[in-house]
Amino acid sequence: MDIVSPDLEAYAAMNTRDVEPIFEELRKETYAKCHNPDMQVGKVEGTFLRLLVSISAARRVLEIGTFTGYSALMMASALPEDGVLITLEHDEKHARVAQRYFDKIDFGKKIKMVHGEAQKTIEGIEGPIDMAFIDADKTSYDHYYEKVMNILRPGGVIAFDNMLWKGEVLDPKGEDAKAIDALNRKLARDLRVDNALLTIRDGVMLVVKKRSTNARP
Ligand code: SAH
Ligand code: MG
Repeated sequence: MDIVSPDLEAYAAMNTRDVEPIFEELRKETYAKCHNPDMQVGKVEGTFLRLLVSISAARRVLEIGTFTGYSALMMASALPEDGVLITLEHDEKHARVAQRYFDKIDFGKKIKMVHGEAQKTIEGIEGPIDMAFIDADKTSYDHYYEKVMNILRPGGVIAFDNMLWKGEVLDPKGEDAKAIDALNRKLARDLRVDNALLTIRDGVMLVVKKRSTNARP
């Protein structure tokens, strides 16, 4: 099930500012050569992530799940000169495509890719980070969340992708749908953060780490 109808997705894309040509090039190559190309966040969600970096004035961003690099490039494009985006990926084929695109454009130089299983490589990431985008294996999201919370600065932002899982969260049957549903419920009640579950594309959960745990009920 599409969360947003294809017509409205197209309308939203049309009325979102044009992006640099490298994004269209990467979209085309991904759709021509990769399995499950729709894992790519695309123009509207990608631009939303870029705006989040800019609104939060993030300097250090962590991404979990690079794929071919679309969302990493989007977020890196909004970083200041000395900003860094660290992105974790275990699939060498995906990583090769991504690195080739990071090397093509100036803001790609701000991206540091870390190869390997994210459950392991995340242990080596140094805080503080200002923002995280979690978009890898769904059953590990909760694990990633807790790891990210340890290094996220107070006031920092986390965006989780695919949190409506094509609508399957309404009647979760598979392992992924069940894991996502459980995490949505946990985050809505987690007093360490404020949150909103947004119906962007396949669902984006936005979380802000509170500056003090008794700031709000
Ligand atoms: N953010 C990307 C899409 C990510 S798709 C974009 O917008 O283009 C999810 C990615 O996570 C895939 O490339 C997959 O290989 C990677 N991945 C899945 N499980 C992983 C794990 N345990 N460790 C590291 N990467 C993982
Ligand atoms: Mg995704």
